[in-house]
Amino acid sequence: MGKESVWGKIRAEISECVKCSLFKSRTRAVPGEGNLYSSVMLLGEAPGRTEDEEGRPFVGAAGRLLDKLIEEVGFKRESLFITNVVKCRPPNNREPKLDELMTCSYFTDRIIELVDPRVIVALGNYAGYYLFELKGGTEWAGVTKMRGRVYRLSILGAQRAIIPTYHPAAALYNPQLYEVIRSDFELLKTAVNVSRGLEGLLKFTKSRGGVG
Ligand code: SF4
Repeated sequence: MGKESVWGKIRAEISECVKCSLFKSRTRAVPGEGNLYSSVMLLGEAPGRTEDEEGRPFVGAAGRLLDKLIEEVGFKRESLFITNVVKCRPPNNREPKLDELMTCSYFTDRIIELVDPRVIVALGNYAGYYLFELKGGTEWAGVTKMRGRVYRLSILGAQRAIIPTYHPAAALYNPQLYEVIRSDFELLKTAVNVSRGLEGLLKFTKSRGGVG
């Protein structure tokens, strides 16, 4: 089955999912969108009101800020893949609960395995917790301590570069954070290039019989 068919199946399952209580408060589930073949995934927290209405991730005020960040560091939104650790809007925009994040990881895992990104930008504490504690087996000490560098973790069967940063919504309330997030997004290019270089080296080594 091709990636598009698998993605269609995952999307359909998410739109009808009743695995956690968030299905009760959603208008539309928000599975995610973007390039299924991208080497970069942006992983956020949960849909807000506009996302819930449109069924698309990051289309409200925080989304516009995210689009600006993506463009400023030389990428195009449609060339990346964007999703959240929780696919349905929590009531009154409250923060997701740990059990909701863990239940929805059934889908988050499958989306990561399908897109298979080399680099994941963790937008906020929930994405950081999911990637570091739940999948990477490494302590997540909070975005303030963890941001500003690239980590290499084994996640769902592959080595992936992880770039933690604040959720863009944080910069709506504290505009000074915009430049902080932007400086973390600047790490994206280097991480993508390094990952491509490592893959190229691995392929070359394999072709020479160096790696089994
Ligand atoms: S948040 Fe995730 S697990 Fe909960 S109902 Fe929505 S899709 Fe299902």
